[in-house]
Amino acid sequence: MPPGQSPPPHPPSSPGPSGPSGPPDPDTLLLCGARLTDGRTVDVRLAGGRIEAVGTAGSLGAAGACGGAVSVDLGGYLLLPAPAEPHAHADTALTGDTDGPVSYEPEDVQRRATEAALLQLGHGATALRAHVRVGDVQGLGALTAVLRARRALRGLAELTTVAVPRVLTGAAGADGLAVLRDAVKMGACVVGGCPDVDPDPTGYVEAVLEVASEHGCPVDLHTDATDPARLARIAAMAGGLRPGVTLSPCGGLARLPAEAAARTADQLAAAGVTVVCLPQGGCAGAEGPGTAPVRLLRAAGVRVAAGSGALRDVSNPVGRGDPLEAAYLLASRHGLRPEEAYGMVSASARAALGLPEVRVEAGFPAELLAVRGDRLAGALSLAYSRIVVHRGRVVARTSALREFCDSAASVELGLPRQGRSELS
Ligand SMILES: [Zn+2]
Repeated sequence: MPPGQSPPPHPPSSPGPSGPSGPPDPDTLLLCGARLTDGRTVDVRLAGGRIEAVGTAGSLGAAGACGGAVSVDLGGYLLLPAPAEPHAHADTALTGDTDGPVSYEPEDVQRRATEAALLQLGHGATALRAHVRVGDVQGLGALTAVLRARRALRGLAELTTVAVPRVLTGAAGADGLAVLRDAVKMGACVVGGCPDVDPDPTGYVEAVLEVASEHGCPVDLHTDATDPARLARIAAMAGGLRPGVTLSPCGGLARLPAEAAARTADQLAAAGVTVVCLPQGGCAGAEGPGTAPVRLLRAAGVRVAAGSGALRDVSNPVGRGDPLEAAYLLASRHGLRPEEAYGMVSASARAALGLPEVRVEAGFPAELLAVRGDRLAGALSLAYSRIVVHRGRVVARTSALREFCDSAASVELGLPRQGRSELS
């Protein structure tokens, strides 16, 4: 909230009974007085994990703005479709500060994966896709641990895993293929990997597509995308896989000559390949710097989503795991309008994960993020206070308070003498 304004009259209440007319329905949640991006202020009723009704503020409560149902007062908040995280690394997240060698003991991986997912959930990502390495010395241990984290997070967030095998071709590839098949049988529901590091990248992609098509899984591959011919081959092969192929982070595309990049973008669009860019930094799967040429890809008709990538590991020592930060960078550095930038971390990210669309309209999944503020540009710029809804329930809440000292400057600026405001 800008300095000089009064705190909102109704700070958000804890979800709980607030109505005078009988016991609340525990399966129904009423979000009261939320602002939408089109400027309307509405009540939103959630039931059965979906948005049941959206009406003008005050219209859905039995008495007053928020009577009857279990309710949350969203006065002063902007209500958005929840973002999703299409590219996380669950097995390496939060290892950057470790003294000495990083532990990949299953309980340590599970703890870090859970902590990372909760960090991202607190920022609003109610669905996450996490890459996990399989094979070599780790075998299936890290995947087992992340699948345990997935089960522990059920009801809070939807965490899906991508099995990332090492070499898949030649003599060394037989083991890699066997481990990959085991990983999919265990519950990794996406087949991934890094074809650029295999001696035979085309053979690697063929192997990945074969395993994916055997199990009806989507594919999500790492590539820097510096070789247009290789990308053209991937695009040609990807077109046949119905559950979809995603490539990430594709930073190398931005370093190609414009004509080659445009031709490659056309080929990716024609094959229906999704690109997930990582504006906040790279990841271990692709070391090349830079972000994919987002506007070029979008102009060619490629579906482009944005993820966070490495989160405080050897590839990126920092990281917030905040989709709104990715959207901020897309708006500030790539010339996207705030609505387009937010769409890349919400609608496009959900589509990349194969999840149904969310709109703040009746009938859509109740996957929502409320951020303090009234405009998207402001929310992308600064959004500490957030309320996250998954399957129709409030699953995370962050609130921040800023206090100014009673100084001459604050008096001159017209701030209240006890300068204290709930922070956006
Ligand atoms: Zn990655």
